[in-house]
Amino acid sequence: MQDASRHILVIGGGPAGTFAALAAKTQDPAAAVVLLTDESCEPYEKPPLSKGVLLGKVRPADAPIAGPGGIAAREVVLEVRARCRAIDREEKTVILEDGRRLPYDALVIATGSLVRELPQLPAGMPRVHYLRTEADAHALKGALTHGSHLLVVGGGLIGLEVAASAAELGIRVTVLEIAPRILARVCDEETAGIVEAAHRRHGVDLRLGCGIVSAAAGVDGRIAVRLTSGEGLTADLVVVGTVDGRIAVRLTSGEGLTADLVVVGTGARPNDQLAAGAGLAIDDGVVVDEYCRTSDPAIFAAGDVVRFPGPHGPVRLENWRHAQDQGGIAGRNAAGAREAYRTVPSFWSEQYDLYIQGVGWPVAGSERVRRPLPGHAVLAFDISEGRVVAAMGINVQRDLAAVRRLIERRVPVDAAALADPAQPLAAMLKR
Ligand SMILES: Cc1cc2nc3c(=O)[nH]c(=O)nc-3n(C[C@H](O)[C@H](O)[C@H](O)COP(=O)(O)OP(=O)(O)OC[C@H]3O[C@@H](n4cnc5c(N)ncnc54)[C@H](O)[C@@H]3O)c2cc1C
Repeated sequence: MQDASRHILVIGGGPAGTFAALAAKTQDPAAAVVLLTDESCEPYEKPPLSKGVLLGKVRPADAPIAGPGGIAAREVVLEVRARCRAIDREEKTVILEDGRRLPYDALVIATGSLVRELPQLPAGMPRVHYLRTEADAHALKGALTHGSHLLVVGGGLIGLEVAASAAELGIRVTVLEIAPRILARVCDEETAGIVEAAHRRHGVDLRLGCGIVSAAAGVDGRIAVRLTSGEGLTADLVVVGTVDGRIAVRLTSGEGLTADLVVVGTGARPNDQLAAGAGLAIDDGVVVDEYCRTSDPAIFAAGDVVRFPGPHGPVRLENWRHAQDQGGIAGRNAAGAREAYRTVPSFWSEQYDLYIQGVGWPVAGSERVRRPLPGHAVLAFDISEGRVVAAMGINVQRDLAAVRRLIERRVPVDAAALADPAQPLAAMLKR
């Protein structure tokens, strides 16, 4: 490592780690900043993996997070295939899988999240796919070109994006969702209903209240799956075996279905083992304060892996913008700044011609106001104490950007004006 006033190490080549490394270098240009990733490539954007990459419209390499010149152009050293095995806090050293020991003055942990595996369908089981990395996306894309029927387990954002991409590729898709409706974690019922209708229009067979209770790999890479309705563990869907190496299941109603491959999209969990092994405070994620500092003042953390102080208590977020924004602050603070991280969270999802977005911190008991819009467009606001606290929309990107500013600036609003499509939201910002 070159001689410099300060050595800053960042672990994790996702958006949180990349923005942390770039921000640290900007904050302290004299520092030696090294970004360590266990992947073998320049950090890339994950959102296209379930959308444009599967459709063959973009490649991950087309969108490096650090911009066209990549990390190196920003005077940060990128170490690929550099898996960190342990952190020696007394020695202030990171130990890599290959045995190297790298010293640090300040460290940022941005190890992201890991897919939540279904024990019945573990990663590595033949014909079973999880989607988290570029390598996963390539494997799935290849499998989709050979399969004609895809079974998606999980009606959340990633499962539904994969379902939409596969349907657009002309593949028959069945989605199993254990809850009575899709997108229960992120969307209100009306928005979810519009998304559900779009899937049904595209021929996706959506089975609600239906999950897998057991699955077994048979000979020749075959899988047998046993399903249930969402109600407890009473199986009302049972395995009938496999047909020609495809997955076969049958409803108790007698209806049967077979699939060539399974994609499991059942959520993620924080990748906090490295931090836990170093004895840092953990609570389903690495615990940080508002300055992104862990229980060790020399170690910061950001992105999917952290639990941080939100306005309604400690919270963990899994979305791109949070990772980018919090990463930037963690990096600057690692390089000597003292900035607090406060955010208005947001997510987006693209399915068919629907651009679905949510913004804000929902508050229990808030008033829901809808703005009637033509076609599939949706815009709904949650109002509490005369201010917008959250909003949900479909195909209203410009409006949602204005709503974000209304929330950030805590602008007092009039519910009747929000419900009136003739009243521009941007004008409300000027009040
Ligand atoms: C398929 C997909 C689609 C998505 N679509 C959207 C979307 O449309 N909108 C949205 O808002 N969000 C989306 N997300 C979520 C968003 O991408 C994540 O919230 C974001 O990537 C989190 O960033 P992060 O840097 O915290 O973690 P990650 O992106 O998970 O990055 C963590 C990095 O750390 C590396 N790492 C882990 N452990 C080690 C170690 N021990 N040593 C070295 N390196 C290590 C990992 O390999 C990885 O490179 C999507 C995610 C996926 C997987």
